[in-house]
Amino acid sequence: MTAKTSDIEMAAGVLRAGGLVAFPTETVYGLGADAEDPAAVARIFQVKGRPPSHPLIVHIGGAEQLGDWVEDVPATARLLAEHFWPGPLTLVLRRGRRVPLEATGGLETVAVRVPDHPVALALLSAFGGGVTAPSANRFGSVSPTTADHVSAELGDAVDFVLDGGPCEVGVESTIVDVTGEIPSVLRPGGVTREDLEAVLGYPLAVPAASPVRVPGQHPSHYAPRARVVLVEPEKVLVEPEKVIVEAELAQELGHQVGLFLPASLAGAVVKAHAVVALPDSMAAYARGLYRFLRELDQQGCDLIVASLPVEEGLGLAIANRLRRAAGPRPSSTGTVPRQ
Ligand code: AMP
Ligand code: MG
Repeated sequence: MTAKTSDIEMAAGVLRAGGLVAFPTETVYGLGADAEDPAAVARIFQVKGRPPSHPLIVHIGGAEQLGDWVEDVPATARLLAEHFWPGPLTLVLRRGRRVPLEATGGLETVAVRVPDHPVALALLSAFGGGVTAPSANRFGSVSPTTADHVSAELGDAVDFVLDGGPCEVGVESTIVDVTGEIPSVLRPGGVTREDLEAVLGYPLAVPAASPVRVPGQHPSHYAPRARVVLVEPEKVLVEPEKVIVEAELAQELGHQVGLFLPASLAGAVVKAHAVVALPDSMAAYARGLYRFLRELDQQGCDLIVASLPVEEGLGLAIANRLRRAAGPRPSSTGTVPRQ
């Protein structure tokens, strides 16, 4: 789905004036500001309730612009950019001078990507500069994959919302650190580890120290209001009856249970508040993941029992988001604070 030229022009004008524009990408909807305007960038953090130390991604219109935003472009970065851009791959490189520290959370590195969406690319082309954007949701909650999700969650806090239809990929980009000798994945996402290694011709490095390289990153993220409990793929495979019986017991004990189950098992559930029959393909599961979580919240579920995919290919990114959604919440009320 494309947007009207007049809407693109208007959105570019909002960016030029220091405003915030929500826009579609192939991964999720972003909350964008002029990457070179520190005051506009600061407003993103304020609207999201995001800690200022949590860095943003700078979106650019083409791989040929990469050198304008980073200190230098190593050969590996060039190779990956040529191969996967436009696409759901973010490269972390040494920060170029035009990127304000507000956008990088004070880091001397910057995350950059070229989104693969006609509306995002039209906006970047009309605006002419870089657009820094995290996902267009409150910090810690479920990412938006439609324009309605953005409006429902952020409302008037956003100056302009571009509607480009539902996002194709549905989970965020893969973040690869290319500042070291061997690239490492900081966050699994839309481009698989297998795809990256096939292009590189060698295995990716394990990220140094901890996979949580980003200051201020909280163990709970991508979280719906309902508590999330995970079921490992082996358990779904070996004892599916037990998974169903346990979920039904929770419902009998007074919970409003929402279940994510493979389609082959979903029909066997008798007692649950809501059941999502998961698509067989990982691409369809990723595309629907955040929508499913939002729908179960809307239907009044207080407990989501989610069956995890096998952690390979896109399944790695889906499992990463579900594990974080199930992570310990910052308050004792069991919900993520929302400003
Ligand atoms: P979001 O757009 O909300 O998915 O968040 C952007 C993510 O990009 C952050 O959570 C970080 O994980 C990552 N990121 C951005 N800049 C950097 C950087 N300089 N170094 C490492 N990770 C980064
Ligand atoms: Mg986010």
